[in-house]
Amino acid sequence: MSDQKLMNVESFNLDHTKVKAPYVRLAGIKAGANGDQIHKYDMRFCQPNREHMDMPALHSLEHLMAELSRNHSDKVVDISPMGCQTGFYVAMINHDDYDDVLDLLAKTLEDVLEAKEVPACNEMQCGWAASHSLEGAQELARSFLTKRNEWNQVFA
Ligand SMILES: [Zn+2]
Repeated sequence: MSDQKLMNVESFNLDHTKVKAPYVRLAGIKAGANGDQIHKYDMRFCQPNREHMDMPALHSLEHLMAELSRNHSDKVVDISPMGCQTGFYVAMINHDDYDDVLDLLAKTLEDVLEAKEVPACNEMQCGWAASHSLEGAQELARSFLTKRNEWNQVFA
C-alpha cells in the first residue's frame, strides 16, 4: 500500500488482505497533556472480507464484554464493535502491558461462556433490545478462545 496516501485512521493504512484472524493488535497510543495514555487495540474475530459476525451475536458479545471486562480491570475505557462486524475496538487507559490485555480478554471471554443472560438487553437499557443472541455470543467467545495462542500474531 506504499503508493497510497497515508490516511488519518491508523487501521485504514493496514492492508486487510494481509492479516490473519483471529488476533489482537495494538493500533495506536494517544497521550493527554497530563501524561495519561490511551492504548487502542483491534480485537479481530473474523477474517476480513471472508466472514463476519451476525448482528445479534455481535451485539450480545458487546454487552457481555462491556460489562464483564470491568470486573477484571478498571482500565477499560471502551470495547465496541467494528462496523464491518469482523471485530471489536478495545481502548485501555494508563495500561501498556499487551500480554496483560490478552489475559484480561481471555478472562472476560471465559466469563461470557459462563453467562446465563445478556446484561442490559431490554428496551430501557439498550437501543435494539430485540437483536440479541446469548448462544451466538458464546459461540464467538468459544471459537476465539480456542485460538488463544494465535492472538499475538497479526499477519499470516
Ligand atoms: Zn445494546
